[in-house]
Amino acid sequence: MYIISTKNMLLKAQQQGFAVPAFNIHNLETMQVVAEAAAEMRSPVILAGTPGTYLYAGTANVVAIVQQLAAEYSIPLAVHLDHHETLPDIENKVNAGIRSVMIDGSHRPFAENIALVRQVTEYCHRYDVSVEAELGRLGGVEDGISVDARDACYTSAEQAEEFVRATGIDSLAVAIGTAHGLYQGTPELDFTRLGQIRDRVSVPLVLHGASGLPDSDIQQAIRLGVCKVNVATELKIAFSDALKQHLVQHPQANDPRDYMQPAKRAMKAVVKKVIQVCGCEGRL
Ligand SMILES: [Zn+2]
Repeated sequence: MYIISTKNMLLKAQQQGFAVPAFNIHNLETMQVVAEAAAEMRSPVILAGTPGTYLYAGTANVVAIVQQLAAEYSIPLAVHLDHHETLPDIENKVNAGIRSVMIDGSHRPFAENIALVRQVTEYCHRYDVSVEAELGRLGGVEDGISVDARDACYTSAEQAEEFVRATGIDSLAVAIGTAHGLYQGTPELDFTRLGQIRDRVSVPLVLHGASGLPDSDIQQAIRLGVCKVNVATELKIAFSDALKQHLVQHPQANDPRDYMQPAKRAMKAVVKKVIQVCGCEGRL
C-alpha cells in the first residue's frame, strides 16, 4: 500500500454522503496516531501539513514515514499540502512524493487567484496529484497569518461556479463562517450559502476550521456537500495538554518513549471521535 491522491477518496465520500477528515500532523508521533486510528477504524484519512510543518519535519521524512505506515497497516494514506502558496514550493513537494495539494490564493484578487490555481492544477494533474483551492477567507490564525474575523469574507456561490470552471480544481474550500484556531463564542455557519454553493459546484467541498465546531454543525455541512473536514488545533491541544499534565505529575520523566504515550492516547481519542462524526468509519 502506498501514498495516494485525495481525488477518488473525496469522490467516494461525495457519492456516499460522508467526509474524509484531514488531520494536521507535525512529527513521528502524530503521524503514528493518525495511521493507527485509521487502521483500527478502517477509515480513509488525510495527513496534512502546512509549509511550516514540512519545514520543521522535512518533506522527505514525512513522505518516508507515511509510506512506511501505509505499508505497515496495509492501508492507502494521503499526505496533503495544507495552505501552500507558491507553485515552486508545490513542485518541489510533488517531486518528493506528495500526491495531494492545496493552493491557497484566497488572499489574492479573484482573477489572480484563478490564474495561480490554474497554473498549479495544470502542473499537478500531469502527475495525478489532486488540487484543492480556497475562495473567500476564513477568520483566525493559520501558521501565524492572522485574518481579522470581521474582514474575513464568505464564499460567493456565483464566483465559486466560475472559479471551479476556470481552474479545473478537484475540490473547493469554502468560507461559510468557520475560523482557524479556537472559537470565541458559538460559531454561526451560513448553511444557506453552503447549499447555494453546492447547487452550482460539482466538485467535493472542503471545510476548514472544524476544531471546536459542534458535531451537529459538521454533520449538517456534510449533508450539504462537504467531503473533507480539516482538524488541526483540537489535536494540538489534546496532545500538548496530556503531555504537560504527565510531565507535571512525573517531574523525573526523561524518556520520550514513555512520556509521549499519554499525549498520543489523548490525540488518538480526538482522531477517532472526528472519524466517527464524519461518518467515515469502515469506508476504506
Ligand atoms: Zn485551513
